[in-house]
Amino acid sequence: MRIAPHPLPVSTLIMDQSTLSELKKKLLAEKALLEAELSSFAKKDPESRTDWETPTPDVGQGEESVPPDDLADKFEEYENLVSREQPLETRLNEVTRALSRIEEGGYGTCRVCKKPIPQERLEANPAAMTDMEHAE
Ligand SMILES: [Zn+2]
Repeated sequence: MRIAPHPLPVSTLIMDQSTLSELKKKLLAEKALLEAELSSFAKKDPESRTDWETPTPDVGQGEESVPPDDLADKFEEYENLVSREQPLETRLNEVTRALSRIEEGGYGTCRVCKKPIPQERLEANPAAMTDMEHAE
């Protein structure tokens, strides 16, 4: 008589390779988009892998100085770019972290309770680091 294999507890199930490579592809595509958008107005900090800087406006000097009205416009534009930069940078960091978790292990598990993150959640957000229960 054969003994039926004992079903694996959910927490030991490993994501299948094709799902993982789909999610990795999504992350890489998103990373490329975010980097393209950031580099359209910001510069990557050469000292850091994760920091981006929106250049401060050029205010000119002496005779060449920018008229106050133009200056106000330039600073307003700068503020707009900075507020555009921040969420992009945050998201890029999440995506980069998820990619390194794919390489180094730990991807697809909640960083709080270590349980697997439901696949639907990962499909909606491949950079998710927690399950629903521990979502921020
Ligand atoms: Zn959790």
